[in-house]
Amino acid sequence: FSSDITPVFTRALAFGDKIAIVDQNGEHTYRDLLSQSLRLSQEICRALKCSSRDLKEERISFLCPNDASYVVAQWASWMSGGIAVPLYKKHPVQELEYVIQDSQSALVIAAEEYVGKIAPSAEKLGVPVLPLLRSRTDGSASHAAMEEGPLTTCSSWKDRGAMIIYTSGTTGRPKGVLSTHENVQAVTTGLVEKWEWKKEDVILHVLPLHHVHGVINKLLCPLWVGATCIMLPEFNAQMVWKKFLSTEAPRISVFMAVPTVYAKLIEYYDKHFFQPQVQDFVRAFCQENIRLMVSGSAALPVPVLEKWKSITGHTLLERYGMTEIGMALSNPLHGVRVPGSVGTPLPGVKVRIASETLKNGGRSYTIHAQGDEDSTQVTPGSEGQEGELLVKGPSVFREYWNRPRETADAFTPDGWFKTGDTAAYKDGVYWIKGRTSVDIIKNGGFKISALEVERHLLAHPHITDVAVIGPPDMVWGQRVSAVVQLRKGKMLSVKDLKDWARDTMAPYTIPTELIVVEEIPRNQMGKVNKKELLQRFYPA
Ligand code: ATP
Ligand code: MG
Repeated sequence: FSSDITPVFTRALAFGDKIAIVDQNGEHTYRDLLSQSLRLSQEICRALKCSSRDLKEERISFLCPNDASYVVAQWASWMSGGIAVPLYKKHPVQELEYVIQDSQSALVIAAEEYVGKIAPSAEKLGVPVLPLLRSRTDGSASHAAMEEGPLTTCSSWKDRGAMIIYTSGTTGRPKGVLSTHENVQAVTTGLVEKWEWKKEDVILHVLPLHHVHGVINKLLCPLWVGATCIMLPEFNAQMVWKKFLSTEAPRISVFMAVPTVYAKLIEYYDKHFFQPQVQDFVRAFCQENIRLMVSGSAALPVPVLEKWKSITGHTLLERYGMTEIGMALSNPLHGVRVPGSVGTPLPGVKVRIASETLKNGGRSYTIHAQGDEDSTQVTPGSEGQEGELLVKGPSVFREYWNRPRETADAFTPDGWFKTGDTAAYKDGVYWIKGRTSVDIIKNGGFKISALEVERHLLAHPHITDVAVIGPPDMVWGQRVSAVVQLRKGKMLSVKDLKDWARDTMAPYTIPTELIVVEEIPRNQMGKVNKKELLQRFYPA
């Protein structure tokens, strides 16, 4: 190995025979992953007819199951100097084609079982397919490739593109977010420090691997410290409980998921673990073995946090992030986690809450609060003032791939990234109010946070899930409408809701319309596409 490659590899080399990944095919050491990646990187270079030194930021799409092959494809792309573009196995073919085409990928790596799915698309788009055979990533491999010769990539690894991750498409068509190796490393090391990742940790991985949450928080963090990642092919509540409560080594010490995953685990618990002695065991076992449980990607409903605490003894640690900035705000590992808040800035991250105003014909920002890991300064009289959350720091992405205009528009003139989320700073912590474009409802003179209304409504005994939207209104600008999922056999009217909410909610925030649905449509990351909901229930 040459030393001018990303530290991910030099660190992995030092972890050697430690188990990095456990998946349905067995255990994979750090050395196995490295040698398989090196061999695949040589194949990539052969397929693209160039040496790794010439391969300048070529995009390499890959379609892999949630197992060691994903790491091999990602690392091999990096070793050959390329940008890793993960595809999602559950996406329909059109979505896969969109990503391959939009990222202008030079090659598609496909795990054996997905070659048939992707080959026709790749052929149509004129992109070669490189199959990743199962035998290549099975158990411990021969390390011949590693002995074959030094790995050489560009010495300026920091500025190099590492991956293009597509945003969730909650507010528009997904955009390809290009993060450099430095960006990825900044997010990784910030989380490792704040959440005290260590090599003895064992994380259970159940999330998709085409979003930052699954890729960085749950995979690259453990691999950075030499920990072990147990990968399930996909989320399954029974399997997760089984793993949590298993007495076999390695025992789970860390878990991270999106709010809907916790809601599904609670549902399973209520159905199966009703005996008091079983409940006592669950609580004691989780308390003793698990040290950290994190929630993110969407707002964590307080009832879910409370119920989770009552069954496992763990107060979920909520954090806030997005594809463009990795993770930015987090509740503390030690100390008080404030329900409904997202804590304070992670190491290296600077944040601002500001409102854009028109001044002398030009635009400028009024700053309400500004802070970093150490402290936050509030403009006098601005405590709790809502504004756009702006972020700066080494974790902020380089560009939207092939979208120079959107990239330029996403930053203020002095280089702050505009998250598009409304937030406030109050009582020493930051609060996310939601996406300015879909979650902030303007009703008469009021600005209402859909997320806050949702938090309130979830406390209603009949409501199991809810999405609050703001259809246009001739008189008020927007109305407050709640799409709700009710407990089996229950009914709810607007009048019932009004009576129930009278003492806890401001009158203008109580929904004036209720739409009952069988299930709130959420994607794999627990997100609701509110533009789609509006179109469905309030077509123009
Ligand atoms: P698109 O940008 O394509 O419209 P998206 O913004 O949903 O989709 P992501 O980058 O995957 O795509 O998600 C980031 C968003 O998720 C944030 O901007 C924020 O609105 C939301 N989010 C993440 N964590 C939290 C949290 N803890 N509380 C509330 N919202 C959160
Ligand atoms: Mg976004």
